[in-house]
Parts: sequence; C-alpha cells; structure tokens
Amino acid sequence: MDNGAIIEEVAVQRTNLLGMTRPKLEAFLSSIGEKPFRAQQILKWIYHAGIDDFDEMTNLGKSLRAKLSDMAEIRPPNVVRQLDSKDGTRKWAVEVGGNNLVETVFIPDGQRGTLCVSSQVGCSLDCSFCATGKQGFMRDLTAAEIIGQVWLAIKSFDAFKQGSGRIVTNVVMMGMGEPLLNFDNVVDATALMMDDFGYGLSKRRVTLSTSGVVPMLDKLGDVSQVSLAVSLHAPNDALRNQLVPINRRYPIAELLAACQRYLDKQADTHRVITIEYTLIAGVNDSQDNARELAVVLKNLPCKINLIPFNPFSLSDYKRPSNNAINRFWQVLTEAGYVTTVRTPRGDDIDAACGQLAGEFQDRTRRSERHRRRAETIAQPVRLV
Ligand code: SAH
Ligand code: SF4
Repeated sequence: MDNGAIIEEVAVQRTNLLGMTRPKLEAFLSSIGEKPFRAQQILKWIYHAGIDDFDEMTNLGKSLRAKLSDMAEIRPPNVVRQLDSKDGTRKWAVEVGGNNLVETVFIPDGQRGTLCVSSQVGCSLDCSFCATGKQGFMRDLTAAEIIGQVWLAIKSFDAFKQGSGRIVTNVVMMGMGEPLLNFDNVVDATALMMDDFGYGLSKRRVTLSTSGVVPMLDKLGDVSQVSLAVSLHAPNDALRNQLVPINRRYPIAELLAACQRYLDKQADTHRVITIEYTLIAGVNDSQDNARELAVVLKNLPCKINLIPFNPFSLSDYKRPSNNAINRFWQVLTEAGYVTTVRTPRGDDIDAACGQLAGEFQDRTRRSERHRRRAETIAQPVRLV
C-alpha cells in the first residue's frame, strides 16, 4: 500500500455523532479541543431540525464546522424500501450494513403517532410465535442505527420543520430483537429519545419491551426511567417454557420479582408495568388461562395488553376468534385489571407485531433467483 492510499483510508474514518448521548458528545468535543456546551447546539440541529450537514449548523463558527466536517459525520442508516398500508401504517426496511435489514413501523392513531423500533438484526431467543426469532441472531444495532430509525421516520414525513406538530409522539422498542441483549446501545438511544436536546419524549412515551432477561432488567432500573413492557404470554412456567424459551432460565416468579424491583427504583410511584400477552388459539387463550393469569399478577402494579397472534408463513399457530379474545378480556377486566386488546395494524404490509423479519434478507437467503431480484429492487435510496 502506498502512502496516498493510507491517507485516503484514514480520511474516511469519521466519527458518527448520531447516537451519541449528550455526555458522550461533550466528551468527544473536549477530545478535539472544543467547548463541551457546543453539544447542545449540535444535538438540536440533529434531532430537532433533522440536519445531517455541519455546514448548515449556522450557530457554529466556520472553523468548527470545517473541523467537524473533516473529523465527524451524521450518518443514519439507509432506507431501502418504504411501504404504506391502507390503514396509514408505514413500514421501512432499513439497511444496517452488509446484507442486513431491519424494519421500523409507524402507526398513526388520532393525535398519537407510535414508532416501533428494532434493536437487533434477528433475535437469539427463538420464541415459538415470532417471525424475528425464526431468523436467528445476526447482530446488535449500534445506537446510531437505533436512534437513526426515529430520525428517518420523521424525515420521511418531512416533519422536522413542523415545530410543535410532532409526528412521532411515542416510541416502542418492540420491533426486531431483544432490547435488553443490546443493553448499552439501547440505553443510549432511549436516553436520546427522552433528552430535551434529543426528541424530548416523556418517559411514559418511550417503552422498552422485553421477554424477560432478568439480570439486565435489574441493570436497566439503575440507569433508565424508560417505561417497561414485559412479554409474558403464559400464566405458568410449563406453558411459558414452550413459548418463550428464556423462561427456562428466568422463570415467571423471578421475572415478576424483577418487574417489582424495577418499579421500586423509579422516582414516580404511580408507574405500572405493561404485561403483553399474545393470544394463540388453543394454546394460551382459555378462560382458565385468564383466571390463572389474574392470580399470578395480583401483586404487581400492571396493566395488560392482549395481542391477538399475527400469522406469518413459518408458523402454524392461529389467531383466536373474536369471541375467545373477548372472553379472555372479560375474565381479566372482571378481576380488576385494566386490559386492552391491540388492534392489528398494517397487516397488509406485514407490519403487525411479530411479523417483522427483514423481508429482503429472508428472500436473499432462500434462493439465488430471489437474491438477484432483491438486489435490483433494493438499491439503497436515502429518503431525504
Ligand atoms: N423482544 C422483545 C420485543 C420485540 S417483540 C419482546 O419479546 O418483548 C414485541 C412484541 O410482539 C412482544 O410482546 C412479542 O411477544 C410480540 N409478538 C411476537 N411475535 C408475535 C406474533 N406473531 N403475533 C403477535 N405478537 C407477537
Ligand atoms: Fe426475540 Fe421478542 Fe421475538 Fe422472542 S418475541 S424471539 S424475544 S423478538
């Protein structure tokens, strides 16, 4: 390699500022001889204004802008495809390096706009009813790739410039992957979602959903105020072991005790855990299951969210009838639980819970013919 080539290689190694929390950005600025307070200005440009070009950051001096352009960048992941459902749901396939794709879903509902964000490519936990689990685990997303999904979503609606008319009002870490197995990056990205210089969402509007990685749940309570949703799906260990294999390591009693510890660490004493329960016909949807669930949860401040199973091609499970769902709901409601049933959204574009699997990648694996086709239609396009 000659010297020219070496210089060129060093020159492209810019530091991505997207995904850096305020303290990390301050440390970066200090490390390049700049004032840490500049971090607040830069964060506002990135997250409030959607700017990814230092030259547009007009309240930074010219020399600082030039220095940042040289050493740093603001690089969100690329969107390779955008799909719109007839119910207003929008889904993006987001390229995160190599052939890896994750999916992000926006679900509008009146004044509320919920963005469902992925944390990993695939998932190692292999829950029996989940399309992501069937893929296996590929890799963790970086903090830039996680917060970058929020950035891209807002950009695609051109909503940075709308001031108070927020398009994304809530974020749920309920896309692909187990957030607590990508702990540091998820904590950083959710901190940016809640930071006033980031997206400024309240802690009640940023929800992390976990299948129950108990030690990480304890760690989370020490560093974050994020709202917690726990994927229970069964009222006893025998059944949960079949549906959620991590239950063999951290059974229900340990998981619910960890939920209580999480609540105990929060300054706000009125907070509750959301218990997610995917209803699968003939598997966990009987009234007996509901009665047992009501007993198991009796000491935990919680509300319950029932998710009718969303079918996908690699699963034989079925969604229960509306009658079965209503009966299950009624038992819990009569037992005094605030219980909601999640309406499937965007299922015409495979955007409903559990259907996210990085469609292109799936196809590329299955056959060479599909690989070639995916390459022709999945050329990265920046939606800016
Ligand atoms: N790994 C995390 C977050 C991602 S899954 C977790 O398991 O909580 C988000 C939610 O969708 C979880 O409650 C999960 O159990 C549920 N889910 C997964 N597959 C589903 C399917 N096919 N139908 C309905 N809900 C599903
Ligand atoms: Fe992973 Fe959550 Fe799917 Fe289970 S339900 S396989 S933990 S993404």
